[in-house]
Amino acid sequence: MLFRSLILAVSRWRPIRSMVTRSRIFRPLVSRFVAGESLDSAIASAEALAAEGLFSTLDLLGENVATVEEAAQAREAYIEVVNRIAKSPHRDLINISIKLTALGLDQGEDVAEANFKQLLAAAQPHNIFVRADMEASEYTERTVAMIERVHAEYPNTGTVMQSYLKRLDGDLTRLLALPTRVRIVKGAYLEPETVAYQDKAVVDQKYVEAAQRLLKAGHYPAIATHDEAIIQSLRGFIKKEGIAKESFEWQMLYGIRRDLQSSLRAEGFNVRVYIPYGEQWYPYFTRRLAERPANLIFIAKATFRK
Ligand SMILES: Cc1cc2nc3c(=O)[nH]c(=O)nc-3n(C[C@H](O)[C@H](O)[C@H](O)COP(=O)(O)OP(=O)(O)OC[C@H]3O[C@@H](n4cnc5c(N)ncnc54)[C@H](O)[C@@H]3O)c2cc1C
Repeated sequence: MLFRSLILAVSRWRPIRSMVTRSRIFRPLVSRFVAGESLDSAIASAEALAAEGLFSTLDLLGENVATVEEAAQAREAYIEVVNRIAKSPHRDLINISIKLTALGLDQGEDVAEANFKQLLAAAQPHNIFVRADMEASEYTERTVAMIERVHAEYPNTGTVMQSYLKRLDGDLTRLLALPTRVRIVKGAYLEPETVAYQDKAVVDQKYVEAAQRLLKAGHYPAIATHDEAIIQSLRGFIKKEGIAKESFEWQMLYGIRRDLQSSLRAEGFNVRVYIPYGEQWYPYFTRRLAERPANLIFIAKATFRK
């Protein structure tokens, strides 16, 4: 946890950001986690995964836009993604993940809501599910409340719960009351201990409890993790409770544990790969670096080889 906090804190410094985005050293590692900069490359990745029976969710990278105009541009870009998915022969296997701060949450809840609804209205006729990713804790309440407001009109949406947050149980109750599809994750942001557990064992334990609750509730939850011990333990739970394989999906990130993605699929589970793409990869990339010290060792080796 200390390593993670350090990397997330350092990555906010401007000189570091500028060094990482300009240097070629980081490119091989960026391309491991990000499926290119264009929509074409993201669709190509999704179709290649679909050919193996894997579902996907496309994330056009970008968060915290600075103006209402940029939020409208993001909305139009997401609508373009929806229209491209609708034309794909694998459209039933592909959906999208968005960030409400890309749709203008910093500019106002009304701004984000208007953009979000337009996007949902574009996606609904194609039966495309649009998930609002969960961002830093300052946005949690606004995100949950947004889903509560729009869900009745647009049931093709849901959001994400982070097991490091102390408010998790109450939010889960609210989302299950709708009911909506929930993705459970551990949480990727730098959060103070007033709002988030700092001890990994506690975060893991809360994750398992929340995943079990979602699996039992049965509204097609997404169990998003690469943690093999947790996956094993949940598989035991699923078996014991007689939960059908098609009543939920595992989710993993593009470029992480391809072996596990394929083996779960081969066993007949639904597996969805989260495919990030686009030019604004820096914040996403630093969250992935922070999750695993080995990713930095990879960079260090590449640097010293030069
Ligand atoms: C589909 C999906 C969507 C997500 N959406 C959100 C979201 O909306 N909001 C949010 O806050 N977080 C989100 N996350 C990130 C999540 O919160 C965690 O930060 C991330 O999944 C790592 O946690 P873990 O469950 O894999 O467990 P960890 O305990 O972090 O990792 C378990 C094992 O997985 C592997 N692993 C994990 N991360 C990496 C990595 N970066 N590089 C290489 N190997 C790795 C390693 O083998 C590691 O030992 C999402 C994750 C997934 C899979």
